[in-house]
Amino acid sequence: MLRHMFHRVKGSYDIIPESEETWKESSLWQHFEKTARFLSSLYGFKEIRTPIFEHTEVFTRSAGEESDVVSKEMYTFFDKAERSLSLRPELTAPIVRAFIENNLHQNECDRFFYIGPCFRYDRMQKGRYRQFHQFGVELFSSKDPYHDAETIYFLLDLYKNLGLKNTSLRINSIGDKEIRQNFAKALQDYFKHFFNDLSPDSQRRFQINPLRILDSKEECDKEISKNAPQITEFLTPSKRTFFQDVLRILDSLKVSYEIDGSLVRGLDYYCDTVFEVVSTNDLGAQNALGGGGRYDGLMKEMGGRDLPGLGFATGIERILLSMSAEGQITQKAEGPFYYFIPLSPPCKELCFTLMTKLRSDQKSASCFSKNYTLKKGLAEASKLNAKYAILVGEEELHSKIVTVKCLSTREEKKIPLSNLETLSEIFYA
Ligand code: AMP
Repeated sequence: MLRHMFHRVKGSYDIIPESEETWKESSLWQHFEKTARFLSSLYGFKEIRTPIFEHTEVFTRSAGEESDVVSKEMYTFFDKAERSLSLRPELTAPIVRAFIENNLHQNECDRFFYIGPCFRYDRMQKGRYRQFHQFGVELFSSKDPYHDAETIYFLLDLYKNLGLKNTSLRINSIGDKEIRQNFAKALQDYFKHFFNDLSPDSQRRFQINPLRILDSKEECDKEISKNAPQITEFLTPSKRTFFQDVLRILDSLKVSYEIDGSLVRGLDYYCDTVFEVVSTNDLGAQNALGGGGRYDGLMKEMGGRDLPGLGFATGIERILLSMSAEGQITQKAEGPFYYFIPLSPPCKELCFTLMTKLRSDQKSASCFSKNYTLKKGLAEASKLNAKYAILVGEEELHSKIVTVKCLSTREEKKIPLSNLETLSEIFYA
């Protein structure tokens, strides 16, 4: 066995044309991206691409220095000029930064979508990687409950378009800073009675941000949190009305949801509506497919205008794992339209000339070049999912009439070279 000299970095993986783990196949990623881009255009979102690294403060100022993502999981390093830079663990803060820096408030578009890699140094497990990919949207506009409902609907629509059925939406309102401060006090009053039974992480969170105890995945914390006060009890009448409006619009769109008072989300910038969609397939501990919410104060906090914002982010790996769990991976990579099989060395030159000509006319073509056996050539054509196999032997070379086999119907016809471009018409006439 060959010894590998180099290995992937732990927590990363390769996306390849064929894999035993179908979610790693590039054709599936392309299918996902095509669907996400198409839906984005239906909903009026335009693409934004930001660098994969930012000045570290972009994240510490926005997500909060004490959030797990920033305090424990960020890839931070100093460049040669001693600047502290971080690989992005998420894209909301970079997009707000880009919106402000490019004066995008002057433009018509206030809806953006992104697709790209994120980086978090976390314990590796199924559905959790150190380089992973997110698709997400951000919307900067007036505060309108229709936008909250529309954003949630978009996320669910994406899952539906990918064929996912086993998903479940949880939603909550976490109000504003003042509400959360009152709620935090009430939580401390509650959790202090169970302090010694909390996980070490949650004991730390108790002082810094007790809301995060509700987010904990540790069984002991979950058990204690069951009877904790709920933030909904602390909402002011206007916040309550806004939340009710969002729910009413979701009802009118026939969206089912569960109101979950323990849903607070891990980052400091969220306010009011927050939501999460989990997969009910057996994905193990990492079953959160996507989530998001409002972050009305963030733009101002980062030095921009006081524009409300909201969005969602969904992890592509977990979507593809879910698709595979639900048997939704039926994609077969599209193969070449024309597949030439030369049956002897002199025939290869003609095959290459024809293939090059077809490609220059924007037709997909490929040529078997492992050896000159018909059987192996045809097997390869099927494996590649080619549409037509074109057999070129000595006889064909002289007559300029080739044998074409339609691989879906197994039908064979003799076709003059000059008619190759009209194969579909000839076979399906
Ligand atoms: P978050 O901002 O943490 O809610 O992340 C949004 C989505 O990104 C999650 O619902 C996951 O689908 C995905 N995600 C987050 N962290 C990871 C990770 N380490 N590996 C894979 N997917 C992730």
